[in-house]
Amino acid sequence: MAKKNIVVVGAGFAGVYATKKLAKHFKKNADVEITLIDRHSYFTYMTELHEVATERVEPEHIQYDLQRLFSRRKNVRLVTDTVTGVDKDKQTVTTEHGSYQYDQLLISLGGESNDFGTPGVKEHGYELWSFEQAMSLRAHLADIIRRGAAELDPAKRKAMLTLTVCGSGFTGSELVGELIEYRDVLAKDNKLDPSEITIQLVEAAPTIINMLNRTQAGKAAKYMTKHGVDIMTNSMITEVFEDHVTLKDKEPIPTYTLIWTAGVRANSVVKNFGMETNPRGGRLIANEFMEAKDAKNVFLAGDSTSYQEPDQPRPVPQIVQGAEETAATAVQGIIKNIDHTDKEIKPFHGAYQASVDSIGSKYAVAQVLDNWNVSGFIAVLLKHAINWLYYVQIFSGYYLFQYFMHEFFRTRNRRNVFRGWTSRMGNVLWSVPLRFFYGAMWLWDCWTKVQGKESWFVDKLRLTSFSWLQVSATSGASESTTKAAKGIFSLSYMYGKDPLLVFDKMPAWFESVTKVFIPNMQMAFFFQKLMTCVEIAVALCIFFGLFTWLANAITIGLVVVFCLSGMFYWVNLWMIFAALALMNGSGRTFGLDYWVVPWMQKHLGHWWYGNVSSHYDAVKTR
Ligand SMILES: Cc1cc2nc3c(=O)[nH]c(=O)nc-3n(C[C@H](O)[C@H](O)[C@H](O)COP(=O)(O)OP(=O)(O)OC[C@H]3O[C@@H](n4cnc5c(N)ncnc54)[C@H](O)[C@@H]3O)c2cc1C
Repeated sequence: MAKKNIVVVGAGFAGVYATKKLAKHFKKNADVEITLIDRHSYFTYMTELHEVATERVEPEHIQYDLQRLFSRRKNVRLVTDTVTGVDKDKQTVTTEHGSYQYDQLLISLGGESNDFGTPGVKEHGYELWSFEQAMSLRAHLADIIRRGAAELDPAKRKAMLTLTVCGSGFTGSELVGELIEYRDVLAKDNKLDPSEITIQLVEAAPTIINMLNRTQAGKAAKYMTKHGVDIMTNSMITEVFEDHVTLKDKEPIPTYTLIWTAGVRANSVVKNFGMETNPRGGRLIANEFMEAKDAKNVFLAGDSTSYQEPDQPRPVPQIVQGAEETAATAVQGIIKNIDHTDKEIKPFHGAYQASVDSIGSKYAVAQVLDNWNVSGFIAVLLKHAINWLYYVQIFSGYYLFQYFMHEFFRTRNRRNVFRGWTSRMGNVLWSVPLRFFYGAMWLWDCWTKVQGKESWFVDKLRLTSFSWLQVSATSGASESTTKAAKGIFSLSYMYGKDPLLVFDKMPAWFESVTKVFIPNMQMAFFFQKLMTCVEIAVALCIFFGLFTWLANAITIGLVVVFCLSGMFYWVNLWMIFAALALMNGSGRTFGLDYWVVPWMQKHLGHWWYGNVSSHYDAVKTR
């Protein structure tokens, strides 16, 4: 039987989501192959473009390599190429460098900025709808503020230090939020007073953030005003020049930075596909099953798609939830067509649980399930939670981990929801003495267990608090059951006093668990020796800085087990905190992790994900 080809064009939120679902569904069907075509070798995490443009996150943090996303899916081929056309009669997709026959096609090519023909936007303005545009804006912002700081002509200096954002939708308002925080960084870097940098939000409508209810939009506006943003409503930009913009019926604004976020339309390439588009945004028109009009076996999803539910005033919004939900409907149709099932497909129904507008890293406003207004810290966490959900939906633990790292633990200039408390680009050198001490201490403890009369390697029971073993134990047991002196609680040693045990006897639940693993003397002797070996390995790892994070995490586990076993004193609880402190990457300095961790990242990464590349040429992911 000839292979069935599913071609997905556009590896954005919709395309990646759909490809993951299709690859999973057809994983046991060798007759189905999925080709994912994108102009980049990576998925651009678009919702963080403004964070890249304003140096909150680094560019590589929003480039999710497609090979890493699909390496475990044998049925996916990756192609890095720019789609130029679709021949719906011959069922072929053409790209700049080839053509691809399809049995089923999913078009998810996203959107682009819409300047509504405003003169000068393309030549002198900046847009924010692709990775390249974000990088260009990032370079411009750093450059213009540096030049502005050095400019002595007051009018020119003011224009250079004025940043004007046009449009107060999600993109514009979120960008303004980032600029508020970035202003302080730019000011510091250029020895400026932050108040010299002006941020303006220019909106043609009488109100801002019109996709949210007035209460939430009002809170966002208040936050912006409080942070010095100049909000200009009823202000329509008519033309953009290098050093100023003109407004309808208003004075021009002197600025060298106009960032246009006022509109979005479908990717303009889709107009070449010979399919029906809507006149306003150029989006391809879909029916309720996300099938393209007049094109057999063609499905649509994401920002390049227009479908208006009968009871809704507008088409599906160009947001991530819209992209995912349209993709989910399209996937059902593709599966049905390939599997030839009678399964009924649920027509599209948009259910948008939450709209969150983050104004910088520390503040957000949200509308949840249309009923609840949430703002501040909780709304920011909600925004993160929505992002986490996407990683879960596309089964990417790797990028979920990376997200945590760049949003919480490796942020600069305190730009995260915890105001930088969770992140520090500090020097781990200072924790090296603690690492040597802590490792040596565990080694010393082991030394007492491997030699002499008290060795844990002779068959004499040392697990003294395991009451159910005492009966059958030999003379050693009777020694160990001698009544202990009453301990004194203290977090330091009190001379002449016995320290207090954390638990003087095992809690009942822990005893029942332990009995399962250590039911008799043979197992007890085995565990006694095993634990000592583990301790030695852990101690050596900590001392020499090898797998330092894991080794310290194990010591925390051991301490907890020792506590629950009734064998550990309050005075030694510092060990948990020392171990936590050493999990900061302390093995990377004067430790073997300096070599081992990068080596593992490279080789294990290669083994698991295959070769990542800047270009995929019909590469089978495995
Ligand atoms: C700055 C910013 C902030 C945003 N914030 C939010 C937010 O907070 N919440 C929210 O829900 N939404 C937000 N959005 C909107 C959201 O990013 C989009 O709705 C979403 O990305 C749409 O997904 P998509 O798959 O349709 O398109 P995209 O994610 O844009 O993917 C389209 C893909 O097609 C590829 N492509 C384009 N043209 C070609 C071609 N000719 N050949 C080959 N490949 C091509 C692109 O490289 C891209 O990978 C934001 C957007 C921006 C720009």
